[in-house]
Order: sequence, then structure tokens, then C-alpha cells
Amino acid sequence: MQAIDRLKLLNQQMQFEPDTDVSPDGRATLPVACLEQRADDLYVHPAVMPNGRHIRLLKTQLTSVCERDCHYCPFRSGRDFRRATFQPEEFARLFMELHRRNIAEGLFVSSGLAGGGVRTQDRLLQTAEILRHKLNYRGYLHLKIMPGAEKAQVERAMQLADRVSLNLEAPNTPRLARLAPHKTFQEELLTRLRWVEEIRRTQPGHRGWNGHWPSSTTQFVAGGADESDLELLQTTEYLYRSLRLKRTYFMAFNPIPDTPLEDHAPTPANRERRLYQASFLLRDYGFSLEEMPFEAGGMLPLLQDPKLAWAELNLSAQPVEVNRADRAQLLRVPGIGPRGVDAILRLRQQATIRDLSTLKSAGILAERAAPYLLLDGKKPIYQISLGI
Ligand code: SF4
Repeated sequence: MQAIDRLKLLNQQMQFEPDTDVSPDGRATLPVACLEQRADDLYVHPAVMPNGRHIRLLKTQLTSVCERDCHYCPFRSGRDFRRATFQPEEFARLFMELHRRNIAEGLFVSSGLAGGGVRTQDRLLQTAEILRHKLNYRGYLHLKIMPGAEKAQVERAMQLADRVSLNLEAPNTPRLARLAPHKTFQEELLTRLRWVEEIRRTQPGHRGWNGHWPSSTTQFVAGGADESDLELLQTTEYLYRSLRLKRTYFMAFNPIPDTPLEDHAPTPANRERRLYQASFLLRDYGFSLEEMPFEAGGMLPLLQDPKLAWAELNLSAQPVEVNRADRAQLLRVPGIGPRGVDAILRLRQQATIRDLSTLKSAGILAERAAPYLLLDGKKPIYQISLGI
């Protein structure tokens, strides 16, 4: 198969891997409908960089051959589908050609496990070394850390990439056993995310290729192991607080034909959205896990935004005075995010805020916030919003 045909095959099989930012209400900052089809069926995704720049990101694997048999995965060994493989130099040169033609501005590269985690990581590192040092690639690079990779390899990946990630898939050992019985949660997976943070923390003077250590992320397959939202968010809270992950991604489980979980029910898309909303509350809004509005069985309400559910319980009877509340109190109000709080604090320095239109003009979802606010001591008049 021609190199470009192999790339198309691998690239199309990688569409489920996230790398773009997601806004606090759970929607992609750039909708999936914006996917651009370039170079005859090569998918290049819009992605938002840490500095806010939007780029076209090529996502691919070096190989879709895999020796593992994770129960949910389309690439599991023995599954009958068309696979493809690149050698590091061949792939790096092809990507640079696409980069020079301005088809892809950034790269997210992963791999099936072939020959063990260490060998597979070596091939990813070789690719990154060729890109950075032989072909002088200065663009965005997201490198996967393989299960079982060595610590020195993790550090080398961090010296070459802008972001590194390792997918935990499940929130803990018993749940992972349901999804991927031959992976070990602590030893093969979590330990490597711990190393990333340890390297960032203990080697502040030795940094990545562009002067910064890369950010780190992970992904969970939500619903594949019948885990609760509480379990997923417990691990998420630990990853944010202790390992400083930039983001935990949630992918709603969808059964793949010819896998052991092909008869397992798919996860509703709304669950994925609620998990994102709750994870942002943990990361950006000062909420703790204990404050999440879990229902029986440790699940979040599917039909209500968790911040709204919390506000219904806690703010309905005690609305927040916009002109006096501190930052932490304002962040608790539905419809007000970190940028909205900044805007309110600026507006308050100029004049007393007395109407919703002032908040609206500052980009705040004023109708959503209104039931939980006082404006100069008065309840605002507003239209009831469904607030989902
Ligand atoms: S190791 Fe990765 S690619 Fe291989 S089967 Fe498991 S999840 Fe899929």
C-alpha cells in the first residue's frame, strides 16, 4: 500500500482520540462538524493550542497492529480489519510534506502495542527525534506514552512533545480488569502519569524542546466497565490535584462489532457531557467531589447540569449579591465562568451593577444566572430558562 493510503487508513481509525479543548458547557470549542476533509479523505481536526491559537491537527498511529486484546478496542489483536504500519523515518517525512503543504499544522501520534511497551515507545520517540532534530519541525506535537514505557523514555518524550498522554481507560484496578484484563492499572498506566508530574516537579531547570515541560492528559471510556460517575470523578480529582493533568477526556462507550463488549449497551452521549461539566467544576470552579450532586449509585443527574443542580440546592434560598460576592462565590453561580467573574470584578470598579443587561454585555449567561443573583439587593426579573 502507498504511504499516503496507509496514512489515510490509520488517520481515519483515530477519530475517537480527543485533543481539542472543550468549553465549560461540555461542547467542543470547534464543533466536530468543522472537520475538514483534505488531501483526499485525510481528516485534519481543528484543535486549540494552549496559547489559544487554532490549528489543523493530524491524528494518526504509527501502526494499527496491536498485541493486546482490550475488550472495547477496535484495534485489539485477532480482530479482522485492515491494518497498516509506518517506519519512523518514512512517517516523519510524509508528515513534513503535509506540513509544508499547509495541510496539517500539528501532529498527534499514537501506536498500537507491537513488541511490548518499550519497543513501541522507542519507535514513537524515533519519529519525534527525526521530526524535531533532522527535519526541524517546530510545530505542535502530542505524543502518546505507552503502557509499560520506561521512565527515561517518558522523560525523552517530554523533551520532544508539547503534550503527552496516556489513556487510563478506567478509573481503578477492578474496572480496568473489565475493559482490558491484560493491563495493570497502577504499574503499567498510572505510574507513568505520576512520572510525568515527578519529572516536571523535580527538574524545573530541564525543560522541553520549547522551554516548557509539556502538559499531560488522559482519557476514560465512560460506561464500558459499568463504573459510576463517582468512580470516574474520584480519579479525575486525584489527577487534577496531585498530578496536575491538563484535562481528563471522557469518551462515551460505544460497542464495536467483533469485540467481547459488542453486546454491551452504549453510553448515552449526555453522560459524557455531564462528566465534562463535573470535571470542569473540580478543575476550574473550586468544587470538591463531596459537593457533586450524585444520585443513588454514584451517578450524576443525566438531565441537569451539575452546577445548576448544586445551585438549586444551595443558592435558591441564598442568592449571591453580584456587587459584593468574592471570586469563589461568583464562580458558584450557573452561567458565570472564570472569564465572567473577571468581567464582573472589572465592572464593579466602574459602577454598581443593577441590571442583567450589564452582565449580558460582559458575555455572561445572565438569564441562567439570574435565579441565583441579587443586583444591588434586588432579585432580577428574568425569563425562566431550561438550563440543561
Ligand atoms: S493496547 Fe491500545 S490499541 Fe491495543 S487493544 Fe488495547 S487499547 Fe487497543
